[in-house]
Amino acid sequence: MTSYRRATSAVLVLGFAQAACAAVTVDLAPLRPAVGRGDDVQVRVTLTNTSSVAQHVLRWRTPQGGVEAPLFEVRRDGAPVRYLGIQVKRAPPTAADYLRLAPNASVTQTVELSALYEMNVTGAYTVRYHSPAAPQGPAAMQAVAGELTSAPVSIWVEGRLPRGSKSAPAAATAASPGLAFSKCSNAQQEQLAAAVDAGRAMAADSHAYLATRQPYGARYLTWFGAQDGQRGAQDGQRSAQVGASFTAIKDAFETRPLRIDCGCNAPYYAYVYPAQPYTVYVCKAFWGAPLTGTDSRGGTLVHELSHFDVVAGTDDHVYGQSGAAELARTAPARAVDNADSYEYFGENTPPLQ
Ligand SMILES: [Zn+2]
Repeated sequence: MTSYRRATSAVLVLGFAQAACAAVTVDLAPLRPAVGRGDDVQVRVTLTNTSSVAQHVLRWRTPQGGVEAPLFEVRRDGAPVRYLGIQVKRAPPTAADYLRLAPNASVTQTVELSALYEMNVTGAYTVRYHSPAAPQGPAAMQAVAGELTSAPVSIWVEGRLPRGSKSAPAAATAASPGLAFSKCSNAQQEQLAAAVDAGRAMAADSHAYLATRQPYGARYLTWFGAQDGQRGAQDGQRSAQVGASFTAIKDAFETRPLRIDCGCNAPYYAYVYPAQPYTVYVCKAFWGAPLTGTDSRGGTLVHELSHFDVVAGTDDHVYGQSGAAELARTAPARAVDNADSYEYFGENTPPLQ
């Protein structure tokens, strides 16, 4: 008797899993079949409950609320492409972790893929949705346990790197020997390469000013205060510090392996961990800033690189142009240790001699 019952229930469970597997389908559609250099790579993911009863899908098996698992299989010219997004260790799911799909209902989400997969190399990509089978859900609900897959779709991507390039975490370019990215889409990578060029130009210009001008003019006076020595590097303590700091900032731009992380959604411009060179985390205000000029993307990178202990070890005594100008007038010893003062000297907007 007992063994007969066990056998029956096993058959029922299997039958259930198969029915649930077919109940929710996944449809994948690229927004554009070909994307240009500097464009994001977007696909529309639609999950549809094709059954006549409500179905429940674990949220993290769907892109609803953000991709938190490798939900796609991406290939470039036939070879698998690395997933660069997050992998989460979770507690066993509860009922609250399930997304409810009414009979015949669909949910659609647009996903940007190039920040999640290494897609900055030019090539013919194929993308398939694939979430492997999951454990059975709580007994009270009809939970989808089978794998969720879509048919593959094709997307041609014109990337920053030429077709056939070896994909590498620190993909080098001619302009930036050590520039690498984390969680940055193709469009963001393109814009960041320009921002690094702008910051590097500001650092080189600042370095040239400090090394060649004598005496320093209004530009130095405005952002770092009265000059306390001739030609900085030789005598005055403060002007020597400014000269050494800009030499180090220029060196960091030109020779160090800079990594930029785009995962920050906070409202400010950017942040760094001063003891962890050379990773810069760019945030919301950064993307709203101009390339050059006051509080620009280029200047923000000058500001952030100045913070690293191995570069100039600056602090944030004050923020903003009027505060930085006030600091130069009243406390030049702190101005020469203030990150925004380096940024504004570098941006030099409006231009001063
Ligand atoms: Zn700062």
